[in-house]
Amino acid sequence: MMPEEMKNINGPTEEISNAEHDDKKVDIHEISCSNCGAPLSYIEGEAVITCEYCGTTTMLAGFDNIVTVESHYLLPPKVGRDEAIGIASSWLEKGFYRSKNLPRRVSWKKTEAKVLPYWIVRCTGSTRWSGMQKRTRTIGEGKKKKSETYWEPVQGRIKEEYTWPVYAREDDSEFWGIRNLEPGKQCVFPDWGKFILRFGGSKKARNINLLKDKKDFSIDELKKLNMQEHIINGQIVQERAERSARDRIIELHHDKAESKATRITDCDTTVDVQGVDLVYVPVWELEYGYKNKIYHILVDASRQEVLSGEAPVSKWAKATIFDIVFLLIAAIFAAIGGASDGAAWPWIGAGIFGGSAIAYSIWTGTMKE
Ligand SMILES: [Zn+2]
Repeated sequence: MMPEEMKNINGPTEEISNAEHDDKKVDIHEISCSNCGAPLSYIEGEAVITCEYCGTTTMLAGFDNIVTVESHYLLPPKVGRDEAIGIASSWLEKGFYRSKNLPRRVSWKKTEAKVLPYWIVRCTGSTRWSGMQKRTRTIGEGKKKKSETYWEPVQGRIKEEYTWPVYAREDDSEFWGIRNLEPGKQCVFPDWGKFILRFGGSKKARNINLLKDKKDFSIDELKKLNMQEHIINGQIVQERAERSARDRIIELHHDKAESKATRITDCDTTVDVQGVDLVYVPVWELEYGYKNKIYHILVDASRQEVLSGEAPVSKWAKATIFDIVFLLIAAIFAAIGGASDGAAWPWIGAGIFGGSAIAYSIWTGTMKE
């Protein structure tokens, strides 16, 4: 079954596709494909246009400057809709934070295939930083012993190779999760509900090589899974993508440097660009409903894994965290009780916190998930 036909069954109540309800006037332009001559229509603002018939990509780089993008790749899609849901389902039950039962309790809403344009900037980012680190030391002997803080100059280098993805469109809110594959961006979003002790569960995107399984762009590869109609044209030209990658790497390295010292006084990053390629990444954008909420998952249709996703935290993960925190506090009270002679309050404290941990576990057991 085609994804398009599926998308409105049990449609989510809160999100209605913008495109269909947008009465804004859009200017549609047309050029012909420089390779096969087929008409290519595009919307005002789009600048990277791929021919649905032969796969040639044309870039409109300013007035009268039309170029064919030579370095032009595809990550061949390997999964259709049902397999994408399968990949998302096994992700939903994986790990400490998610519930094994989750896949059976969710309802799949919107499922859409997209072939998204990314500029991949191959580059090396090197940073030299220096700063000051706050440290403490103990001075003096015996009764005069005290600790004092002092500052120490520190410095270091960061050097990393990147195949940095720059999404080739202006508006990354058109589709969910598009920017989340940038290295260092949050890509896993746990939903804690009203629970306050939120320890862990989120994840940042790794620095992965999106060019690893690339092939020359081929429209036939897309046709195998009926994805050729879902190619999204780009709006951002190569030059701008390169600049954007530089800026983002400088930002990332600055953040990294900041985590290494109390205060950064100097941070200098150079980005060496070796090349820029256009890669089309086929994805499945999935939406599921659970307890009256809508969650999103983005599945890489080529590498067959979840790129980014949202998921509710399981009740047992919450109970475990709650119990660990409360039992620790109870243990501290008990230790104080053991050390003091006969005071009752530490034991009362230990009882309250220990009892709360037990009560929370029992309550969790009776709670529906
Ligand atoms: Zn063509």
